[in-house]
Amino acid sequence: MPSKINWPDAIQPLLKKYKGKKHPLDYENVYQLMVMVVLSAQDSDKHINQLAPKLFESFPDMKALSKSTPETLFPFIGKVRNFANKTKWLVEMAEKIKDNKNIPLTLEGLTALKGIGRKSANVILREAGKPAEGVMVDLHVVRVAPRLGIASGTDANKIEKQIMEILPQKEWDAGMAMSFLGREICRPQPKCEICLMNTVCAFYNQIRKPT
Ligand code: SF4
Repeated sequence: MPSKINWPDAIQPLLKKYKGKKHPLDYENVYQLMVMVVLSAQDSDKHINQLAPKLFESFPDMKALSKSTPETLFPFIGKVRNFANKTKWLVEMAEKIKDNKNIPLTLEGLTALKGIGRKSANVILREAGKPAEGVMVDLHVVRVAPRLGIASGTDANKIEKQIMEILPQKEWDAGMAMSFLGREICRPQPKCEICLMNTVCAFYNQIRKPT
């Protein structure tokens, strides 16, 4: 493996592979995505995709959600992990935003809402087609980025910062690309032999080193 990787170049095949790939949450608009992102924390995208249609039938937009209460939401999201806090956050969020057109599509505006951290805000901005203001780092990226060698440690915020320093802003979709790679190939048991990043990956090249 080359001793120093030129990451802005080396990341290109990964960016190309997942360019424009939609997030696995099955949303139809930014309102739905925001609600689903809040619900999916510590739960699975699959579970949230299953319950979303009924939820959005009763609460089709921010206006409808702003009239909800924890009691009216409970039948729809009572089985979601940490539902008590999430219900509170959704009700507060909707009371504050009131209408789909007021959804704040900036990192600062989104992270000011309870239940939405940098990871969620970066996802929402990406899916809304806004320029990246950060790099999305989820559990997959926390596993994949240190394996690749583009970042180190286990702290999502620090990993995001390292990637933002290494890559120019126009390549900040690398977070989502690494997340997709982590879901498909760089699983906890990685499928390195078929991975398109194996020529530059620190982990793979380390284990292949002749003893
Ligand atoms: S080569 Fe292996 S460890 Fe490296 S990114 Fe690919 S799957 Fe993950």
